[in-house]
Amino acid sequence: QDLGPRMVKGALYTYVRPEETVDPEILGISPAAMRDIGLQAGEETTPDFKALVAGNKTYWDPSTKKGIYPWAQCYGGYQFGSWAGQLGDGRAISLFESTNPSTQTRYEIQLKGAGKTPYSRFADGKAVLRSSIREFIVSEALNALHIPSTRALSLTLAPKAKVRRERMEPGAIVARFAQSWLRIGTFDILRARGDRKNVRKLATYVAENVYSGWTSLPSILLEPASATSSSTVNPARDVPPEKTEGVSPGEENRFARLYREIARRNAITVAYWQAYAFTNGVLNTDNTSLLGLSLDFGPFAFLDNFDPSYTPNHDDHMLRYSYRSQPSIIWWNLLRLGESLGELIGAGSRVDEDQFVNEGVTKAFAPELIQRAETIIERVGDEYKAVFLAEYTRLMRQRFGLTSENAKDFDELFSEALDTMEALELDFNHFFRRLSSVKMKDLENEEGRKWVAGRFFHAEGVTGLGNNEEGARERIAKWLERWRIRVQDDWGNDDEGDRKREVEMKKVNPKFVPRSWVLDELIQRVEHGGERDVIGQVMEMALNPFEDTWETGDRKQEERWCGDVPRGNRQMMCSCSS
Ligand code: AMP
Ligand code: MG
Ligand code: MG
Repeated sequence: QDLGPRMVKGALYTYVRPEETVDPEILGISPAAMRDIGLQAGEETTPDFKALVAGNKTYWDPSTKKGIYPWAQCYGGYQFGSWAGQLGDGRAISLFESTNPSTQTRYEIQLKGAGKTPYSRFADGKAVLRSSIREFIVSEALNALHIPSTRALSLTLAPKAKVRRERMEPGAIVARFAQSWLRIGTFDILRARGDRKNVRKLATYVAENVYSGWTSLPSILLEPASATSSSTVNPARDVPPEKTEGVSPGEENRFARLYREIARRNAITVAYWQAYAFTNGVLNTDNTSLLGLSLDFGPFAFLDNFDPSYTPNHDDHMLRYSYRSQPSIIWWNLLRLGESLGELIGAGSRVDEDQFVNEGVTKAFAPELIQRAETIIERVGDEYKAVFLAEYTRLMRQRFGLTSENAKDFDELFSEALDTMEALELDFNHFFRRLSSVKMKDLENEEGRKWVAGRFFHAEGVTGLGNNEEGARERIAKWLERWRIRVQDDWGNDDEGDRKREVEMKKVNPKFVPRSWVLDELIQRVEHGGERDVIGQVMEMALNPFEDTWETGDRKQEERWCGDVPRGNRQMMCSCSS
């Protein structure tokens, strides 16, 4: 029975079935996602697969009343800084969980655009083709860039579903998966309801089922930070906490450790976003993953020209979700999580007493609890900053082709490069790819450096700093000289060093990122031109972003998509209607 959109009480999900899709057409699949979820190539052609990803089959058998009934999650959120109340999966429906037998990784598979749920509010539960194409490609592109992200398995056209936005548009469904779709907003809604018992239950679930159990969450205080078990997951773990006073070992309980781990994961993901100039565009708390996954792809974009104040979101007038704000916005969101978990974090050793949850916080205990929670949250904040900086620095060092660590690099090399890119309106990701193949001997004299500098310009020449080409060449040349000296420490100055460095740099500096203009062209050609092959071509490039060439069958097109961004198409913006 369909009760329609409503306020849900006392629960974090609702059983709900996808709507039937008439004449579905699978437009694309991600071979990488197929592999990662544990499917064989070719399985996408089976009737079962086709029916599942279109919402036309579930594992629930109504006659026996057995199997898995699909569900939609409930969550709340702070949108643009204000409490927005109940949100939830308004058009995403989870079908089942599945464990890849070879990696033992468990995923929750869901369909986006599969129809109305109790959380659809005033909207239709549908997704349009253009936004589905964008989510399909970018999820997989981020993963291929090693940026933690939710994944996309398939893109299905729902040709009969005409969806009204600014105009009537074709509908589509993305089958997507993640180890967890839980987000900060999932805690927000419980806190808003005053549901202390379920805050505790959810936190316990997250630790035990989303993370690998409480014992995998290292102490803030006791263990040497580098000697922890999850160091392979978190490369930046060996950052020493800045403060050691304030909390004593017995007071730091397992909920504090969970909070810390969530903050660390998010710090690492934001570091990747900044290092690859990815902007999410809508970093509300309901779009901030408890696993630190890039989540919810609406008006996202990769930066073209390096412009830190760029936001891809047409409605983001305050630039709240601009590129430069992302690290502090994620911390703002994590503070909301700290508030949800505050009572548990601050309870110290008393957290294990059921009595504590059942009877609530006594007046005598409250001030002590608040103070302890505040201290721990502040410490986690310091660590968030430290992890972010360490990871961002590590990634940038790689992108600049350096192997050794030098504390001065950040100020003397990285910042100056970024300032130069900004002032001269250079393309961020092209800069690094082109730098990868620069030869040391071409940088030996000023003339050579100025010649190399021209490689970083747009086709129409220099657009920043009053179109002063000579000034631009001089500025880049000056930076290249610094870079040359620094690179020689690590690679020497011969051809052999150049070759080896180029190989290493190209492993971290993508030739292809799905920029807004490429996605726009893709959408046009699929939606209005009726083309199909082009989806697989873009996906092939997105899945192998560090290659020089691909097997798409169209070299000219590959080069065009990897080349200069057409002038009128730089820094495009997107509206939220999707
Ligand atoms: P977002 O801005 O993408 O994070 O979405 C905010 C909320 O609006 C979420 O709860 C979405 O599920 C919901 N929502 C967005 N678009 C639709 C739609 N077409 N139908 C139903 N719910 C939607
Ligand atoms: Mg969302
Ligand atoms: Mg969205």
